[in-house]
Amino acid sequence: LQDGLRSAFKTLRGQGRLTESNMREGLKLVENALLEADVSYIVVKDFMKDVSDKAVGQDVLKALKPEQQLVGIVNQALIDLLGPVDPTLKLEKDVTVLMMCGLQGAGKTTTCGKLARLIGTEGKKALLCAADLQRPAAVQQLHVVGESVGAKVYSEEGATDPIAVCQNAVKFARENGLDVVILDTAGRLAIDEELMQQLKTIDLKVQPDQVFLVVDGMTGQDAVNSAKAFNEALELDGVMMTKLDGDARGGALLSVKHVTGVPIKFIGVSEHMDGLEPFHPDRMASRILGMGDMVSMFEIAQREFDQEQVQKTQERLQKGQFTLDDFRKQLDQIARPGLMTKMLGLMPGMGEMSKMLQGGDHEKEMKRLGGMIDSMTAAERNDPKVIDNSRRQRIAKGAGVSPQEVNELIKQFDSMASLMKGMAGGGMSSAMDMMRK
Ligand code: GDP
Ligand code: MG
Repeated sequence: LQDGLRSAFKTLRGQGRLTESNMREGLKLVENALLEADVSYIVVKDFMKDVSDKAVGQDVLKALKPEQQLVGIVNQALIDLLGPVDPTLKLEKDVTVLMMCGLQGAGKTTTCGKLARLIGTEGKKALLCAADLQRPAAVQQLHVVGESVGAKVYSEEGATDPIAVCQNAVKFARENGLDVVILDTAGRLAIDEELMQQLKTIDLKVQPDQVFLVVDGMTGQDAVNSAKAFNEALELDGVMMTKLDGDARGGALLSVKHVTGVPIKFIGVSEHMDGLEPFHPDRMASRILGMGDMVSMFEIAQREFDQEQVQKTQERLQKGQFTLDDFRKQLDQIARPGLMTKMLGLMPGMGEMSKMLQGGDHEKEMKRLGGMIDSMTAAERNDPKVIDNSRRQRIAKGAGVSPQEVNELIKQFDSMASLMKGMAGGGMSSAMDMMRK
């Protein structure tokens, strides 16, 4: 999707103004890009109509480059479609009952644990209810999850009636002063009538206060069908989309939001219990548009990087000193499979480098980049501007690469350095503080 959009906007570059015809071409490319990202066809159609209606009615702003204007319109339309946000769980009753539903493997049990943990941090006590009696291991899995977040788990040995289990769990919560019951219901590999009937009966008999649909963010077109079916069978209050830590661009989110109309509450960004984040439509929109999601990048950085190293780099950044030595240290930091490509993919302008690393031999690539930096003198590392033609030849020879590769490295470094410096104004920590709010 990213590439599609990037090239869509490239065709507009250099044009004086946004006309209906050149815009149509750009929009066509946007449409294709969305389809490529597995956003459902009907959703794309509606979305494109919305966007072009907005664009046509709008005056051309001379101050903006045409592609900026179109990006702005598309971006805003995406934000409108993805929003509004409502990350509250509304836990004001004595015992609030939350019901989780979704296909098998969507991430229900994991998300139950994450929610219990979150509720715990808000000073309330959650009870996890093992209502998935479909798979023998499901009850055990919930116990493991509950233990890891310090939440009680209600289950009944040998139970066959999930409705009774749910009812008994609510009773148990009432008698034991627990504030929230989270029902971990059964899923199926595909939607079937029996599953839907079971969920409807739980909904009717247990009367959960909120029903959440858990959707696997990695699913494509299928997401629409299952979301539609669940939405028709149950009155959904929100969606949780999991596995957005992968390289999914979020196409399924658009579709699910479009067909259910209910707010996306949280997104799952890791299989660990702390991997639950409030949903930010603006961040997701820029991720989908491929403009880079700086905030997400920081979140990954904060989670996975050596904190001390981050601190040191930050101090240097604030002094306006970011050198190839720092760059080298950062390469070492992120020289772990997957992380590098993930980070770079999120950074504006770094998509190419990310692609370069993708699929290829990761370690070899890191060695190649490191080797070039190691072949430089301290002075060159400190200020790559001194690297002229003959120095470039020497470095290339030392590292066993072509001078062109040295050039590319320096270019990458430059874009990273200016990015870093741009952000150093407020400091990395203030950027992180901002995100926490
Ligand atoms: P359920 O069948 O709906 O209960 O799904 P599970 O909770 O058992 O999750 C299925 C798999 O997805 C497990 O291996 C989880 O660890 C994994 N998973 C769930 N949520 C996330 C997430 O946000 N990110 C990642 N990477 N994995 C997840
Ligand atoms: Mg489960």
